[in-house]
Amino acid sequence: MNNLLEGGQDVADLISDAEVINILDHLDEMYPNPKTMLYHETPFQLVIAVLMSAQTTDVGVNKVTPTLFASYPDANAMAEADIADIEDKIKTIGLYHNKAKNMKKTAIIIRDEFKGQVPQTREELMQLPGVGRKTANVVLSEAFGVPTIAVDTHVERVTKRMGIVPPDASVRETEEILMARIPKERWRDAHHQFIYFGREYCTARNPKCKSDPQINFCECRDLPQYSAR
Ligand code: SF4
Repeated sequence: MNNLLEGGQDVADLISDAEVINILDHLDEMYPNPKTMLYHETPFQLVIAVLMSAQTTDVGVNKVTPTLFASYPDANAMAEADIADIEDKIKTIGLYHNKAKNMKKTAIIIRDEFKGQVPQTREELMQLPGVGRKTANVVLSEAFGVPTIAVDTHVERVTKRMGIVPPDASVRETEEILMARIPKERWRDAHHQFIYFGREYCTARNPKCKSDPQINFCECRDLPQYSAR
């Protein structure tokens, strides 16, 4: 098992590696060929869509992106945009003032420093305004096929409740532990599948697992920070 776990975390309550694989196999059956639900046609549009998705549902983002991308399909176009027009096109989503500002700045950087192409390393992606490690991982995985596990609120909650990750692990530790416990070729799908499962069954409040007999492959760690029951 991972050094992070051996180096101080209490592993007694964690499920075994075989149980982790069993969960992944069930999730594969439930959610075959998973992919991001964010509408996009290019890596640039994915970066913009992920930027907009902070504290907003994918459905909410997908409502505004077709109009936005019709006007500003690439970095060159968005870099020239009037910020008031970007705001107007995305005003139904949360934090739209700040997001519009970051989107335009990101477009300018991609145009001026990366010849209009989204960079393909985590370090470069994280130089873009509003792009943290999670967003960079999503873009690397979805747009460029680089294996990563992006840890969002669903991935963290589900994997801690299931006992794959210790409850007190930080987001970064959660990512490291998941990479250690999940075979690399399954990282991308597992990321999406934990999100799907977290939205459908292992919800933050009132999880739906008890009312569905097919959810018989995980047991809940009763974690105070998630108050599952
Ligand atoms: S038993 Fe329910 S709440 Fe617990 S990890 Fe499974 S789906 Fe989530």
